[in-house]
Amino acid sequence: MNLSSLHLAKDSPPAKLQPGAHSYLDNRVIKSHRENKRTRSQRARERIRTKEHLTRLAVGIGEVELADKIERCHSRLLVLTCGRHIAQVIPNFTCEFRLCPDCGRRRSRKLQNKYLPMMRAFLRHHHVKPVHLVLTQTHRVETRKQSSKRIKDAFVKLQRRAFWKEFFKGGTWSLEFTKDKNGLHHTHLHIIGFRRKFFDIELLRDEWLAVTGDSHVLNLKPISDIAAGLREVVKYVSKPLDIRRFGAEDLREFLKLKNMRMFGTFGEFRDFCKGFDPSDNDGDEASELDGLTRDLVEGCACPKCAAPLFELRLSKNDLVRFYEGIESSPPGKVGTS
Ligand SMILES: [Zn+2]
Ligand SMILES: [Zn+2]
Repeated sequence: MNLSSLHLAKDSPPAKLQPGAHSYLDNRVIKSHRENKRTRSQRARERIRTKEHLTRLAVGIGEVELADKIERCHSRLLVLTCGRHIAQVIPNFTCEFRLCPDCGRRRSRKLQNKYLPMMRAFLRHHHVKPVHLVLTQTHRVETRKQSSKRIKDAFVKLQRRAFWKEFFKGGTWSLEFTKDKNGLHHTHLHIIGFRRKFFDIELLRDEWLAVTGDSHVLNLKPISDIAAGLREVVKYVSKPLDIRRFGAEDLREFLKLKNMRMFGTFGEFRDFCKGFDPSDNDGDEASELDGLTRDLVEGCACPKCAAPLFELRLSKNDLVRFYEGIESSPPGKVGTS
């Protein structure tokens, strides 16, 4: 598909492209954000490996206290289960380290629980459609901090432009970090934008080029399910980078960036969130949220099958085996052994 054939002059009416016309999507960006198809046990095992890697790196640079915290975090768990489903997992200790995959999941769940009701309410009150916009920038030799500042500054400039104000009514942003094979930082901004009306993607490309000076690669796709859209963007907050490629120097650099913000709101959505009253809710959002955040005790009915819940005390490795048992047992059979 030749993108230049779609290019419209700046003064053409943006209505020429139909909503849902996906021909403009930039596959270079989409490719790296495929859905995750691994099982729960595989993901749990991977989190253990990631933490082992982080612990080794921390010991290697003399951060023994940090290593100890990461090792203790989620090492023993109180699991509330019916035998087939897990209703709640309570860890013995949480390290709250920003690169910890277990703490990242908790953080991302908290963000979802906080922002989903606000997004639903915002969509009910305004004539806007949510889109997932990915903004990228050219690679340069720079630190992670410089890379993140560069893209955030460009986004602030973008928001001040007439084009942006005409087509977007605020939203959320989150940062994603990756590194290419040459070791250059590659920072993306994932934006859930509340779009007022349809526009030609090429115009947005021109706007992004105007504020960055050299970047025009971006991707935009409509969000049909806001819960799934939010889950997708907070994923980058819970897993800010590919830790497998992380070395001792990276960890040292990361520890210097104590309070870098990874997620935020902007525009009219930001003001809306400030004034939001959670009791002012006409939908039943809670039923769609992750069951792990609800308060349950032994004897309560399993939220998935209504069988009584009981408590299990498991180590992190026991939990992986427990997940495997559930995954391998046929529906209807209890997965404990
Ligand atoms: Zn942790
Ligand atoms: Zn159940």
